[in-house]
Amino acid sequence: MTLTAGALQSELTAKDKPAMNKKNKYISYFRPTIDAMDGYTPGEQPKILNIIKLNTNENPYPPSPKVKQLFGNIDYSRLRLYCEPQADGLRDVIAGLHGVKRENVIAGNGSDDILTIAFRAFTDSTRPVACLNPTYSLYPVLAQLQGAECMHLTLNNDFSLPDNLLEQAKKANMLIITRPNAPTGNSFPMAKMVEICENFNGIVLIDEAYADFADDNCIELAKRYNNVIVSRTLSKSYSMAGLRLGYAIAAEPVITGMMKVKDSYNVDMLTQLLGAEALSDQEYLRKTVLTIRQSRKRLIDGLQRLGFYIVPSAANFIFAAPPDKNGERLFKLLRDHAIIVRYFPGEFTGSYIRITIGTDEQVDKLLKIAGDIFPAV
Ligand code: PMP
Repeated sequence: MTLTAGALQSELTAKDKPAMNKKNKYISYFRPTIDAMDGYTPGEQPKILNIIKLNTNENPYPPSPKVKQLFGNIDYSRLRLYCEPQADGLRDVIAGLHGVKRENVIAGNGSDDILTIAFRAFTDSTRPVACLNPTYSLYPVLAQLQGAECMHLTLNNDFSLPDNLLEQAKKANMLIITRPNAPTGNSFPMAKMVEICENFNGIVLIDEAYADFADDNCIELAKRYNNVIVSRTLSKSYSMAGLRLGYAIAAEPVITGMMKVKDSYNVDMLTQLLGAEALSDQEYLRKTVLTIRQSRKRLIDGLQRLGFYIVPSAANFIFAAPPDKNGERLFKLLRDHAIIVRYFPGEFTGSYIRITIGTDEQVDKLLKIAGDIFPAV
């Protein structure tokens, strides 16, 4: 049915909506939820050259050379065609990597897309979500969009999981555990993860955006339990943040349901091809991850010598508190020296800055400047 302007006007009035736009007057037609919310603020992407950019957990090294080679050889005329809607070829590569079936895999436009799909699928005004505090700040925004309550499970002072987590989360339909967590960088004991997956009455979404930099991961839990989803991204360990590819592993009925919710062509043709190529080069992945883990140790050791407290990190970033516990001051001082890190204001996080692990050269530069600000104790 097509509404005439007059009919549309009375529709709006009938629903107690504001009058039609008058000249120079903005009248919102958004859902009140959208008007009331701020939206997600992504990390800054500065345009200035010659800065050391350690603020959004990107990989300082390029993707696998095999990706470059394939990129040059892709027939551009294929762009005319729609891509494979469920990314079957790519899903087969991911399935092979993790020892599951294609039916256990869904691909997304970054893991943010996987998260959006999960929120759409499992949360609404009567189905709350529970997530950690502090954690990835996108989750509460996605909850708001769904009109879903977001329960915040505050971590202990050392950023470990609270003992009564399951009790606190029991009303939620989906529980998100970010492991390693962001922005804190720490992981959680596997025994605790098993206990959560076994006892939580709902979906447990384990966000493993940083798991390739950790000592262990929870893929086996997604294979063992029907209520567990593990999400991954190629943005960090595979150096492909600009390509936008994420995926999730879960039981077949969970994936089938999530497929109903996703956009029809949510992973484009280039991403399907280049992503599969990157995933196939596990040797390159191992090499870059090892280098980053070594640089992480070097940065941690150097900052500890200057009196910093560092939260034990299993990720490609560290959460570091300077000796004066003033994260904001250090954030600004580093910025004056063209080093961009991330600062999260707030009682729980304000003593820290989050630093992405860069190249050794970048690490050395940061250590030199930090040493000038806080001479060794
Ligand atoms: N999960 C966590 C915990 C993250 O920090 C990020 C990166 N901001 C993402 C998911 C999303 O990453 P992407 O969409 O690039 O895959």
